Amino acid sequence: MSALLEIRNLKKEFAFGSILSRLRITAVDDVSFDINTSEIFALAGESGCGKTTTARMILGFEEITAGSIDHKRSVAPTDTRRDKVWLSHGVQAIFQNPFETFNPLRPVERYFFETVRNYKLADSDGKARTMVDETLRAVGLSFEEVSGRYPSEFSGGQLQRVSIARSLLTSPRLLIADEPVSMVDASLRMSIVNLFKQLRDEMHVSVLYITHDLATAYYVSDRIGIMFRGNLIELGVVEDVLMQPKHPYTQLLRESIPEADPNRRWTERVSLSDIEHEEYMRKGCRFAGRCPKAMEICRTDLPEDLRIGSVMVKCHLYAGECND
Ligand code: SF4
Repeated sequence: MSALLEIRNLKKEFAFGSILSRLRITAVDDVSFDINTSEIFALAGESGCGKTTTARMILGFEEITAGSIDHKRSVAPTDTRRDKVWLSHGVQAIFQNPFETFNPLRPVERYFFETVRNYKLADSDGKARTMVDETLRAVGLSFEEVSGRYPSEFSGGQLQRVSIARSLLTSPRLLIADEPVSMVDASLRMSIVNLFKQLRDEMHVSVLYITHDLATAYYVSDRIGIMFRGNLIELGVVEDVLMQPKHPYTQLLRESIPEADPNRRWTERVSLSDIEHEEYMRKGCRFAGRCPKAMEICRTDLPEDLRIGSVMVKCHLYAGECND
């Protein structure tokens, strides 16, 4: 499998407070992973772990503090505008709430025709309509079903499909879907995640699936990265990471959903707002304050990324087992 996107040592700092008492939080810290062609890669963790900030940097919505995001293999090497082509065509975002994606006062078809016009995707109205119909059919809808309808006339699941169809117009290589089913009824949730699988298999689109829901992540993704307080703490094939978690934090998450049931949402969420800041500022392992296996070294030294078999784990427990 070839890498579509190579992310290396990615870092994002945010500054808070006044000039005199400026505080810097490293929201994403030294994160590295690849997204392969025709792959669904899940980035999972609690709110505030850095997964959405990572996605926003890939989309070009946030400046990178340090590190790199290499998309060069996804755009023709002869194209001198590769960064521009990647950000305008190569990667598209699917947001959490489709009702916030569309203006309630505009028929949704207008968004499609605007995209066709803005990107000069068709040279006649007839071709534009055919193109719109084809992308809607790729998500199980049709132009007839959508034409003349306003956002409020769709269910959340239907409107999320409409949103995905619009993102397909530019033939993207990567979809970044940020909690795409969290606002969708449970009965329709599986149809959306199955759609991602279908797009991967039939159109060879890759998906970065951002979620706090381990059940759908297990069901839909090929590989998964678990984030905690800005660090990527475990990474590997989803079966390995979620069925035999190595990192104590992944084990804690996994215990909250004993069976990988795609229809069951992972809703347990520890309220961390009071200690979140303290964990971000921690010198050693950021999980040390809550880890049942913490050792002395955990409080002083940040663990390195260790490769154990096919899994990367960031934990001092495995220092003697590393196969690098
Ligand atoms: Fe726990 Fe130490 Fe591993 Fe962190 S590095 S998860 S504190 S054992």
